[in-house]
Amino acid sequence: MTVLGVHVVQGPRDKYGDFLKQLADAGKHVVVYALDDPAPLREAKEVLGDAAALTVLRYDKLRDADGEQQDLQGVNPERFGHDAAAAARHYMDRCLPVWEDHRDAADFFGTTNEWSNFSPFQHAFHAACMDIAEARGFKLALYAFSSGNPPEEFVGEDFVANCRRMKARGHVLSVHEYGLVESGRLRDGVPFHAQRVAHLYQAVLAPRAADPDCIVTEFAFGGGLYDPDTFLDNVRWYTENVLRRYSFIVGGTIFTLGNWQGGAANFQDKLIDLANYITSLPDAAPDDPLIQPPFVYPTVSQPPRAVERTASSFELGSPVRGIPFRITDPFDTPRPYANGKHEGIDIRCFDFVNNRAVEILAPADGTVVVARRDDTPERDYGNFVILKHRDGFFSLLAHLASMAVEAGQTVRRGDVLGVGGKTDADAIHLHLTLLHADGLTGYYTHPLSPVSRVLNPTPFFDPSLLEE
Ligand SMILES: [Zn+2]
Repeated sequence: MTVLGVHVVQGPRDKYGDFLKQLADAGKHVVVYALDDPAPLREAKEVLGDAAALTVLRYDKLRDADGEQQDLQGVNPERFGHDAAAAARHYMDRCLPVWEDHRDAADFFGTTNEWSNFSPFQHAFHAACMDIAEARGFKLALYAFSSGNPPEEFVGEDFVANCRRMKARGHVLSVHEYGLVESGRLRDGVPFHAQRVAHLYQAVLAPRAADPDCIVTEFAFGGGLYDPDTFLDNVRWYTENVLRRYSFIVGGTIFTLGNWQGGAANFQDKLIDLANYITSLPDAAPDDPLIQPPFVYPTVSQPPRAVERTASSFELGSPVRGIPFRITDPFDTPRPYANGKHEGIDIRCFDFVNNRAVEILAPADGTVVVARRDDTPERDYGNFVILKHRDGFFSLLAHLASMAVEAGQTVRRGDVLGVGGKTDADAIHLHLTLLHADGLTGYYTHPLSPVSRVLNPTPFFDPSLLEE
């Protein structure tokens, strides 16, 4: 059963209380989405009761501790050096203190708004947001795709993994629908966004047990502008022909009550008509969807595009002192563990002339994130170090006999990290994994690693090393 309700921005909502009261008297449920102001959510909970009011809160603007206003519509990866986990921490650090005050008002907290690019960064960002939210007991309304989205290239394994997690952990997918119309009437426009999302559910998400509940957190007609003469007609058409026919849609909020664009979209004069319409709806949903969507999503199998080395980009120096740089086992060779692929390269770190292991050096400037013995059950890495470099790159160096650095320490390229060895390995060698938020999925990464995507490190080494 799809529950109908309203999307509220700050501004006048004089008849909102009457609207809620009418639904409460009829024993109906309501879904309310509020932007920046939690008051309408709290009011819905008070009038209808907690269980009968499904509520979503999203902040568009919040102020920093120093008073600077933060735009939370989306996140530019460049600003965070493509480090999605850092971006998520920055974002959630601003949201969480405010969210804490409104746990009673909101069932779900919206993250970004109509932010439908930056794959795979965005998927990593939302996964990191879920990490943080789940640790604090918040449920999220994620993605908020605008009309016509998500784009097909956005729908990959990492998106499916996020959706599967959303379903398992009780988060919801948020989508918007403005019908792609030109005439101002929703029903004149095809294809409909909800059908595109319906196809996404049918062809991609449901077969993979990755179909979270969906709330259409904004719907209206073309351009989002309110026309009082066609308002209810459009709401009725969309509700009966689309919203109530897709079981994955649990709620739809009609845009908008309040002062959006100076009140250009505020249907509060029609609120009682809307309440009458909602109370007249039978609880049972109509039969199958009327129209089959024309979209075809590609098979979800292709890995996201990996970062490529450019002339100006990040470069690795030799991580071994006093001996030639030699790769003894390249990236991606078969392995008996995890996804069956070598998640980095092995590098010679033994000096055969002097019959001893050599010192291991920082391959680039950075900060030590981890320097410890691998105590996970698999114990893959022995003594290992993770360095955080610029532009979102991380390197992991493993199997050291001893370590000379500690977490938090700053290192320059060529600084000594320790001595090479074979801790948790059969023979003396240095294992090196390069990680980046835009790297490849499907490779083993250590649970302590801040990012989980690996790159083939070979092209990132100083070319003169590879020629030796
Ligand atoms: Zn290795």
